[in-house]
Amino acid sequence: MTADPIALARDLIRCPSVTPAEGGALALIEKLLKGAGFPVHRVTFAEPGTDPIENLYARIGSAAPHLMLAGHTDVVPPGDETKWTHPPFASEIADGVLYGRGAVDMKGAIACKLAAALDYVAATGGKPKGSLSFLITGDEEGIAVNGTVKLLQWAAERGEKFDHCILGEPTNPQALGDMIKIGRRGSQNGTLVVTGTQGHVAYPELADNPVRGIARLIEAANAEPLDRGSAHFDPSNLEFTSVDVGNTTVNLIPAEARARFNIRFNDHHSRQALRVLIESRVRKAAGERIRWRIDWEPSNADVFFTAPGPFVAMISKAIEEVTGRTPQLSTTGGTSDARFIKDYCPVIEFGLLSQQMHKTDEHVATADLVALTAIYRHILDRYFQ
Ligand SMILES: [Zn+2]
Repeated sequence: MTADPIALARDLIRCPSVTPAEGGALALIEKLLKGAGFPVHRVTFAEPGTDPIENLYARIGSAAPHLMLAGHTDVVPPGDETKWTHPPFASEIADGVLYGRGAVDMKGAIACKLAAALDYVAATGGKPKGSLSFLITGDEEGIAVNGTVKLLQWAAERGEKFDHCILGEPTNPQALGDMIKIGRRGSQNGTLVVTGTQGHVAYPELADNPVRGIARLIEAANAEPLDRGSAHFDPSNLEFTSVDVGNTTVNLIPAEARARFNIRFNDHHSRQALRVLIESRVRKAAGERIRWRIDWEPSNADVFFTAPGPFVAMISKAIEEVTGRTPQLSTTGGTSDARFIKDYCPVIEFGLLSQQMHKTDEHVATADLVALTAIYRHILDRYFQ
C-alpha cells in the first residue's frame, strides 16, 4: 500500500485537532497503519487538573534495530480565523502551496513519515528488517503532561525498546535540507522575591525598601555569564522578563518586589546544578541585609543532545541525496518532545520549514512534502540495510 503525502497532509489538516482535541487525526492514522499491517494502540492519559489526551502507538516487526518515528497531531489554535486567506482547516492548495494549521507543525511531516513508511513496508512485503514504530501524541503544543512522556513510559512497561528516533518538528530555517536538530537547550523559569518593610516614603528609616534589594540581586544574578558555550551549544542565558512591585501609591514604600526570569541552558548544566549556582550568586549579594527567596517553577524541560555519529551521518547523507544540501547540525530553538525521548534512545529532529509554524496562513510547498517523503524513504532503506 502506498500513500500520497499531499493527500494525507490535506486529510490531517482537515481534522481540527487543537490541543487537547483529537479531532479525528489519530483515527485517520490508525486506519492507515492498520491497513498496512501495523498493530495499533490508542492510549488515553489523564491526571487531575488536566484534560485527558489521546495518543497512538503502532509498531511493525519484532526484531532489532527499532526505529521510532515520533510526532504530534495536535496544533495551536488558529487565532482570528478571518485573518486567514485560506481557512485554517480547509486544506486548500493554491499555486503549489498547501494552507492550513499544522501544515509545517507538524501534520505535513507526519504525512511524509506515513507515506514513506507505508511505501517501505509494502516494498518488504509487510515484513521489514527490524522494527518500525509510530509514537504520536496529542499533547505537544499544550502542557505536555499526558502525551509523549507518558506514552514512552507506557511503551517501556510493555517491554518496548528503541534504538533510534526521528522527531518530525520543523527544523529548516530557509530551505528543506538546511538543518537537523541534534540537541536543544533546557528551560527553567523562576521568580526572585525580595521582602522588605512597608512604610512612608518620607520616613525611609522606618521602612525597608525591597526595590533597592531586588535591583542589587538582579544585577548579581546577571553579573557573570553562566558558561561560555560548549562544543555544540551556545552559551546558557539567564533573562529577567518582568520586575513587579504593583505599587500605585506615590508616597508608599512597598513591602515586596518580584522579578520573573527564564534560563535557557546547555549541556554544561543540570537543572539542579543551575538552581544551586543562581542561589549561591544571589545569597552572596544579599548577605545578611536582603531578605529573598527564589520560587522555582516545576519544569520538565531538560537538555537533549545526540552526539554526531553514524546515525546522524546517515540522515545527513539521505538529506543530501534528495536536496543537494548538507544540513547544519544545530542545537538552537525552544524545547520539544525530544527532551523526553532522549531518556530512551538517541533522537534527532528533522522535518519541514520552520518559518511558518504557529502563524496565520501557515503553509507548506507541496514540493517540500514530496521531497521530505523521499528523504524519510531513503532513511528507512539505509537504516534497515
Ligand atoms: Zn511541533
